[in-house]
Amino acid sequence: MNIENILNEGINILQKNKISNPQLDSEILLSSSIKKDKKHIFLNPKEILSLEQTRIFRNLIERRKKNEPIAYLINKKEFWKDEFFVNKDVLIPRPDTELIVEQVLKIYSKDMRLQALDIGTGSGCILLSILKERPNFYGTGIDISKKSINISKFNAKQLNLMNRVKFFHSSVDNFRIGKYDIIVSNPPYIELLSIKYLEKDVFNFEPKLALSGGLDGFLKIRKVINRARNLIKKNGKFILEIGFNQKNKVKKILKEEGFYVNKAIKDYGNNDRCIISTKI
Ligand code: GLN
Repeated sequence: MNIENILNEGINILQKNKISNPQLDSEILLSSSIKKDKKHIFLNPKEILSLEQTRIFRNLIERRKKNEPIAYLINKKEFWKDEFFVNKDVLIPRPDTELIVEQVLKIYSKDMRLQALDIGTGSGCILLSILKERPNFYGTGIDISKKSINISKFNAKQLNLMNRVKFFHSSVDNFRIGKYDIIVSNPPYIELLSIKYLEKDVFNFEPKLALSGGLDGFLKIRKVINRARNLIKKNGKFILEIGFNQKNKVKKILKEEGFYVNKAIKDYGNNDRCIISTKI
């Protein structure tokens, strides 16, 4: 089999199974299977592949056919300015979540020396992206999932940030270490009834633990705000990702818990996605 033939085979299989970007997905999966960039695929359509390369590619196509997300198949996802290792134990970083990084960078200049906490750190993408941009920040990430902590530590090593970051396997309920200048969080916020209407890629493969916000969607948000109140310094900034329909209620909870609401930011789809508040 040469590159052109196997690529067409992959595209046909994905098309038949109604996967939305059959061509692009096949290219990405082939490029990962033969460990060459996409340019190599376009420039060498007649190159003959080894049996092993063909086997790896066909296996990935079979998994993609069943809606497994590309990021889990190739074990990586770009976020902000870096590439992060991901697998089914962590949520795949979303472009909209880059809003949190952007806002933190807007608030604090390069030379500031601060302590940041990330509640529900997952792959570590938010905290690690912030630390890379702010060389004097120190970070702590916590997550209720033990497996996610192994992944965030791995990503910290890859990005050479191990000397400025600590990750703990802990629920926010019993985490009592330190006081922070900044707290960031992208907690699970999808309400129970909406979970089953998520895209198949998300519903069948991404960890429910990272998505489910309980019956009303606010279970984890409420907990995170309530605990952030004790973990943040006075005048510290709290930057939280929320669901598109949660702004008003979250503002109310923040006020009740002693935060001043600075602003809500919209994502690329023009939905409310991020709330910035200050501890008073
Ligand atoms: N933005 C994610 C999604 O809609 C949800 C992330 C979350 O619950 N924190 O798939």
